[in-house]
Amino acid sequence: MPPLVPFIALAALGLAGVLALGAPAVVPVRSLPTPRGGSGTVVDLTHLGLPHGGARKRPPAAVVVHYSAGTAGGVVADIAKQLLQHKASYNYLVDRKGTVYLLLDPRNIAHHAGGGALVDGRSPNEATIGVSFVNVGWTPFNRGGWPRLAPPPVEIQRRASKWNGDDPRFLNLASASWEPFPAAQLQAGMVLVAQLHRDFGLAANALAGNRTVFGHDDLAPWKADPGPAFPMDAFQQGVRQLLRRPSATPLS
Ligand SMILES: [Zn+2]
Repeated sequence: MPPLVPFIALAALGLAGVLALGAPAVVPVRSLPTPRGGSGTVVDLTHLGLPHGGARKRPPAAVVVHYSAGTAGGVVADIAKQLLQHKASYNYLVDRKGTVYLLLDPRNIAHHAGGGALVDGRSPNEATIGVSFVNVGWTPFNRGGWPRLAPPPVEIQRRASKWNGDDPRFLNLASASWEPFPAAQLQAGMVLVAQLHRDFGLAANALAGNRTVFGHDDLAPWKADPGPAFPMDAFQQGVRQLLRRPSATPLS
């Protein structure tokens, strides 16, 4: 796990006003960050009432990227149901076509990265916005068109084997197949994340070279998401490229 880059104190950047302290737990969607580009669509699913940790006391310092995982990885309604069952939440979900779903106001603390390494001296849930991509993740079986990449860590394979009846193939993987992330999905994710950087004051940190986008696997080595199929370096570069433009226009 790479060392975490300490973040410049957000207060020094004059960002005290970015986050309205004492804001109501749920705010109208029209007042939330709305990414331009991608599909141009944000679907408000906050009425689902996903569990959360209340309003942030300090502005977020970074974004954590996930994949939705599971055999139901492609169906947004099923993902939301699973989140409810597991008392978990993301702030946003991006589907394969680039539609962005608002699950939880980013001014609230989502339950998406509990137990991971500290960010900005805080628990990752308190310090980060959770953005998940609709994606199955990995499978030990050779799926047509899915690249075969390095296997997930042994601990993840061991857990997976329990979910799959101790199938020994999960413990003896030379490689796994990972679902690719479509370009439209990645582009919509970059536009969303760049917009969040602007709205929550992360932009200056990102452009100063500090890391403001983490994978869940960066913070929690027992997690496989977003995994080797997610182009993290290119994604971060794309976000910075958008931030250098006068407005968050989509990449061509
Ligand atoms: Zn995750």
